[in-house]
Amino acid sequence: MQISAAVVHEVGAPFTFTDVDLEAPAPGEVLVQIAGVGICHTDIAVKEGHLPFPFPGVLGHEGSGTVVAVGAEVTTVAVGDHVAISFNSCGTCPQCSNDQPAYCHNFLAYNFGGARPDGSTGLAADGTKVAANFFGQSSLATHALAHERNVVKLPPGAPVELVGPLGCGIQTGAGAVFNSLDVQPGSTVLVAGAGPVGLSAVLAAVVREATSIIVIEPHQSRRTLALELGATHVIDPQDGALSEQIREIVPAGADYAVDTTAVVSVVEQLLASLGIRGILGLIGVPADPQATFSVGLFEPPLLGLTIRGIIEGDSDPQTFIPYLLDLHAQGKFPFDKLITTMPLDQINEAVAAQLRGDILKVVLTP
Ligand SMILES: [Zn+2]
Ligand SMILES: [Zn+2]
Repeated sequence: MQISAAVVHEVGAPFTFTDVDLEAPAPGEVLVQIAGVGICHTDIAVKEGHLPFPFPGVLGHEGSGTVVAVGAEVTTVAVGDHVAISFNSCGTCPQCSNDQPAYCHNFLAYNFGGARPDGSTGLAADGTKVAANFFGQSSLATHALAHERNVVKLPPGAPVELVGPLGCGIQTGAGAVFNSLDVQPGSTVLVAGAGPVGLSAVLAAVVREATSIIVIEPHQSRRTLALELGATHVIDPQDGALSEQIREIVPAGADYAVDTTAVVSVVEQLLASLGIRGILGLIGVPADPQATFSVGLFEPPLLGLTIRGIIEGDSDPQTFIPYLLDLHAQGKFPFDKLITTMPLDQINEAVAAQLRGDILKVVLTP
């Protein structure tokens, strides 16, 4: 069938709307008519060449919509179902078998390979192959080929056009709090960076009834939003050394810290702000893959500290997305407050607005 997709022709090029031919779903694949698709930092990083992907190609990995066809052997979703689309995984490696698909041994091939395992992409423009299967979806388009394994059937009443970001950015921030750090009631949580991932961590910390939720963020508008969403304190890093500002609020140090910035000085200050048996969760992706930070040898054992790297919030999307939607339906996880919708054909303007910080999280609607 012919669809319209936001094709990136080469590294650094803008998104260009192009009519492309999409194959019918292969065995195990699911054809989704896209209702909404979020723009995540990873889309931009790939477009700018900081992460590998073949071009020309179609990005987009926070899609959602309606199933319009299924391939052979698909049994868990059917035509007409509303679905969110998350990251893909192999389902058979040791980590997938242990219900840790975010650490799939084949994560790069299944999410950044740009093709099916047999090398085909299912997508072509004027007879020329176009890379697809980005995060098992390539959903910056009117339609996307996903997989039975990475589509999540939505409960009745879920806002189908808004749920795409649950499959990546929101799941990452919330999962860090719920799954990775397992934040306990009455505790103190630091969150560095009030972008969509950090604010999702704030929403989750509120659900977990953390007593103090301290957000570190340089932009005034985002600090204000953090307070609206349940942060108890906000810190402007320009007002002085972070660890000193944090100790003024919690003299004994924090129980948990979530870093979304991947800024070396911020990470070191978070580590210095942990209390006894504190846990630092690292979510941010550094601009420089060689970036390092220093850890003393004295305090971590003395205080029983933990440093924890986290991908996709340690989530299994099949269970975690329905959990988040159940909280949302109860009014306890208002993730829609993070989202601004714009038409898909305004994608280049939307990306620019998100990079400027005018918009926190855009969801594009075809
Ligand atoms: Zn796997
Ligand atoms: Zn993402």
